[in-house]
Amino acid sequence: MSQNPTINLPTIKSYHVKPSITGSSVKYQCPVCEARLRSSLMDADKQDYCPDCGAAFIVPGSPEKLAEAERRLQMEDAKTEAVSHAKNWLQKRQRNESVSKRDVRRDCTWIGTHCVTG
Ligand SMILES: [Zn+2]
Repeated sequence: MSQNPTINLPTIKSYHVKPSITGSSVKYQCPVCEARLRSSLMDADKQDYCPDCGAAFIVPGSPEKLAEAERRLQMEDAKTEAVSHAKNWLQKRQRNESVSKRDVRRDCTWIGTHCVTG
């Protein structure tokens, strides 16, 4: 009853991962009829069927899928960090500007709204 139906499916040991900005793909051959197949790397580790002979197998590329997922996560982290850095910088800048404008006003030559000595 609780048997995993995918446990006895053949795993494909020979495969090639093709990186792409829109999503990496994995190229491999059907373990039964050796048809050349291609799947999205995001489908790695999932059960799939050969369109030629109908054999079930596990899409290869699990380590690469993991590596790509980690890379994407790091990219998201970096983006989030950059945004919070930018917000902090902007807040600091706004605070500093209001302080420094007050400070330099005495000996500052104003042209329009711009201080040319600051
Ligand atoms: Zn096949």
